Amino acid sequence: MISGGARPGIPPFGLWPKIFVTNQAVCIRLQMMDERDFYTETPETKPATYVCPKCRQASEFRIRWLRRTKKKNIPPGAGALERAKFSKATDYLVRVDSQITCPNPRCRKRFDIPSDQTVVLI
Ligand SMILES: [Zn+2]
Repeated sequence: MISGGARPGIPPFGLWPKIFVTNQAVCIRLQMMDERDFYTETPETKPATYVCPKCRQASEFRIRWLRRTKKKNIPPGAGALERAKFSKATDYLVRVDSQITCPNPRCRKRFDIPSDQTVVLI
């Protein structure tokens, strides 16, 4: 690797920001192709009953979820890996809320949703 004018290692200072931004954009693009580019997202709420860990009162909460519906067609620019992932992809729900607040006016404790289930396959 001696030919041409390109030097290995750190590029000249003036080229740095451009290269950095380009690499970052490529990373983000690849990441997004894994997930959101495959799906149409629709917010929805589901009722769920949880018991407050402080006052022990059971209450119904409206938990926010995001429904990811698989698109009819794979997004343009997808490579072989994305095509394989897209063919296996199925609709699912992702839980948006991670914490809820006790509705008891004498308590009002904020606590984690006592469930590990944050994704539901449809
Ligand atoms: Zn409470």
